[in-house]
Amino acid sequence: MHHMTLAEIARGLADKKFSSEELTQTLLARIAQLDPQLNSFISLTEELALSQAKAADARRANGESGALLGAPIAHKDLFCTQGIRTSCGSKMLDNFKAPYDATVVAKLAAAGAVTLGKTNMDEFAMGSANESSYYGAVKNPWNLEHVPGGSSGGSAAAVAARLLPAATATDTGGSIRQPAAFTNLTGLKPTYGRVSRWGMIAYASSLDQGGPLARTAEDCAILLQGMAGFDPNDSTSIDEPVPDYSASLNGSLQGLRIGVPKEYFSAGLDPRIAELTHNSIKALEKLGAVIKPISLPNMQHAIPAYYVIAPAEASSNLSRFDGVRFGYRCENPDNLMDLYKRSRGEGFGAEVQRRIMVGAYALSAGYYDAYYLKAQKIRRLVKNDFMAAFNEVDIILGPTTPNPAWKLGAKSSDPVAEYLEDVYTITANLAGLPGLSMPAGFVDGLPVGVQLLAPYFQEGRLLNVAHQYQLNTDWHTRTPTGF
Ligand code: GLN
Repeated sequence: MHHMTLAEIARGLADKKFSSEELTQTLLARIAQLDPQLNSFISLTEELALSQAKAADARRANGESGALLGAPIAHKDLFCTQGIRTSCGSKMLDNFKAPYDATVVAKLAAAGAVTLGKTNMDEFAMGSANESSYYGAVKNPWNLEHVPGGSSGGSAAAVAARLLPAATATDTGGSIRQPAAFTNLTGLKPTYGRVSRWGMIAYASSLDQGGPLARTAEDCAILLQGMAGFDPNDSTSIDEPVPDYSASLNGSLQGLRIGVPKEYFSAGLDPRIAELTHNSIKALEKLGAVIKPISLPNMQHAIPAYYVIAPAEASSNLSRFDGVRFGYRCENPDNLMDLYKRSRGEGFGAEVQRRIMVGAYALSAGYYDAYYLKAQKIRRLVKNDFMAAFNEVDIILGPTTPNPAWKLGAKSSDPVAEYLEDVYTITANLAGLPGLSMPAGFVDGLPVGVQLLAPYFQEGRLLNVAHQYQLNTDWHTRTPTGF
């Protein structure tokens, strides 16, 4: 049962081959048995899951249908879930039970999805390895000595290990696409404003976007359908109709113009990943796509710009965790200043403190123009590069990451080395564009992803290309041994 995709589960439930309750019980047992090896969950919500599954079965018995009705999922632990711990991977929120559901959580629950639990993540979504979680590192099911990617490493490891078919995730600089690449999944970061951020604990508000992690593009279409849409509670949510993503999966790729940026194939890229990327280009050419070399000249400036803007926004967003209103409070403070200092010093981990310091510095008087303003100007140049490229091509293709998943601990003492691994993903966040990573092969037994980028609100096109690719390749069907 655990090998089924969301699409297969929907068919099985509709045909009464099994009930959502049976499926939920099977997956909860599988999580209990296998997750100790992976550490992909922070909290399990067995009671909620079983009651949601029973309710979904009752709705189906009453004649209701829907691709998500009775489908088991999990939420990255930064989506607020009413009455359930929402930790953000931090000691700061270890005792925090959200007083309301995030819009994404509420929408998926209304569609009948069953929440099995909350998944592990880098603390406050800061990281590319899922090693900064207060709840410990997550292991990659393809090799337990390697990282699963971050910051949505728990969602990725759980789905890759077939503990459940799909999960929600968020992407500020690559946290959906990079763990998808590292664990052989398909992951989609939507256009900024497509998925509501209400109730999604903020890291860098102008970059954060929620999206689906699943094994196939078809399943990403199903999950995104349940997540996307206008939300008046989020002032950056965009009031655009949500197309039927599953309906466009089968469009022909004949004549599709794919741009391949020359800057992507520089010295930092593992030559074996370059080769797999070229193989995926050839596969798409066979389906009728036309390849065009393009240039994104400002790409080299994106990492420094991102690592000013994201920490700047983080330092502002995280100022609300002060030991007074909610979250961790230190023992026996001497006075108010001591309460602030020790609550934040004891509640936040090292990477979060590093980002707060970098961000506060970049925003301080005298440095604001030199760092923050300059970074915002680069952000505009990065966006302009994409706008020029999309005059020539329909999608842009390249590697998702320069290297496959590294060994646990290999980069944890060198933050900049880890930041550099985000080189291909962060530009989409700076520009607000949608991006998708899909499985494209293996290097030393570890999965490799290829990234597709499209113009604003063209999630359907990304899913269409990835689905056609997946009908003609079998990388996405490979399963890690032992799972
Ligand atoms: N690795 C990037 C960072 O640490 C992106 C993380 C994310 O997308 N949440 O900021």
